[in-house]
Amino acid sequence: MSRVPQSARRSFPGACLLLAALAILLAGCAGNPAIGRHQLSLISPAEEARIGARQNPEVVLTFGGVHGDPELAAYVDRIGQRLAAQTGRPDIPFTFTVLDTELVNAFALPGGYVYVTRGLLALANSEAELAGVLAHEISHVTARHSAERYSQSTLAQLGIGLVGVLTGGHTAQLAGLGAQAYLSAYSRDQESEADAVGIGYLSAAGYDPGAMVSFLQQMDRNDRLRSRLSGERRQVAFFSTHPRTSDRAAQAMRIAGSAAPTGVRREEEHLAMIDGLAYGPRGGRLRGQRYGDATLGIRWDAPEEFELRQEENTVIGVGPAGSRILFDTKPHDRSVSAGTYLTRVWATGIRLDRLEAIDVNGHSAATGTVRLRTPNGARDVRLVAIEATPSTFARFLFITRPGTTERLAVPLQRATYSFRSLDRTEERAFRPMRIETVTVRRGDTVESLARRMPFDDDPMARFLALNGLDAPVTLAPGSRVKLVVD
Ligand SMILES: [Zn+2]
Repeated sequence: MSRVPQSARRSFPGACLLLAALAILLAGCAGNPAIGRHQLSLISPAEEARIGARQNPEVVLTFGGVHGDPELAAYVDRIGQRLAAQTGRPDIPFTFTVLDTELVNAFALPGGYVYVTRGLLALANSEAELAGVLAHEISHVTARHSAERYSQSTLAQLGIGLVGVLTGGHTAQLAGLGAQAYLSAYSRDQESEADAVGIGYLSAAGYDPGAMVSFLQQMDRNDRLRSRLSGERRQVAFFSTHPRTSDRAAQAMRIAGSAAPTGVRREEEHLAMIDGLAYGPRGGRLRGQRYGDATLGIRWDAPEEFELRQEENTVIGVGPAGSRILFDTKPHDRSVSAGTYLTRVWATGIRLDRLEAIDVNGHSAATGTVRLRTPNGARDVRLVAIEATPSTFARFLFITRPGTTERLAVPLQRATYSFRSLDRTEERAFRPMRIETVTVRRGDTVESLARRMPFDDDPMARFLALNGLDAPVTLAPGSRVKLVVD
């Protein structure tokens, strides 16, 4: 839980270095009561607040927007404010935001902006575990870690452009997942410090300090599950720059062990709060070669030779001879036609050939092609913009090597024309999955409960990881567990 704007990659020009040296001479280092050490920061608390306020909307936009459930927001805010009251920093106006993404993450901006994702809320097994995460992030703020490392340029780089996708092969950038690659980790020492300070806040707020340890272990379980399931290894790579969660857990265990062993967990309350929470990617649902979005009421089918995966509301198809399908949906101004959207909004700065206005099963659409030079050689790219709803465009990118463009034209065209509105009977199949908390009944086993989840791949491992179990155990009747359901 560590991604914040980074400064590591910026090389200090001479003038800045001189300024830094002057600042050391004139100001010395400020003592920071949160962490009991002296630190150098060139940013004043007022400037920190301005930085946070400026970056907040961009962070929210990049990570799926604000989750819409007011009850859940109030729950997280209540825990966050209780912890913030333990910091002795009434001058920092802490705000807590739930982000609508399946990614398991939490982070903080200078000025007291703390974020937690719905993916993380689903993974936590108690209110105390969630509190541990918030306490860790609050500690990054009070210890001024982000101020130490802050770079204004970072979030400006988050613009996700067409050309960037094509040159690097980092298809994930389209999904916004790539944004994480730009947000680097805190240092190992800062992470340990945030764990240690956070355990203090957690304990002072009346929670079991051991929850910090158990959630680190829970994240470790989840990381291991993700790397086991195919197609999700890319995500795990981003975590390689962080201290291993298992190392952090061991260290946190030593610190928590010396804190008062009292405090509450509130497992039942947390499970009740996340009952019904959406699970999985935002947007639509991938089922085999079909993709549908129940909210937008659309669907399309991919050719058999493409292997599909979904990253938030982007579908990525990997096909023969380096070919790719990228599909996503974007809100747009309703006054814009498909043709104008294609040339002026989406492919700005790119000259498209063979522009055509088309009709896709009653939806106005526009298409064009371009041959692009990439470090991996030339690529033919066909763009298709379809008016999915009066306020949303659906977008296909078909990428092929020039030698295979003609051969793949037919299946890819078939994919375009498979796009259509969902009828009422189909809608159900494409609704997002959600978390359901159920009471274990006599006769229920880990196996029987895991089988109720809509996964073909390893439902048992998913059930165990979701519920904080390392191995199948006998579940006590009356206890509560989480399931993922359709
Ligand atoms: Zn952290």
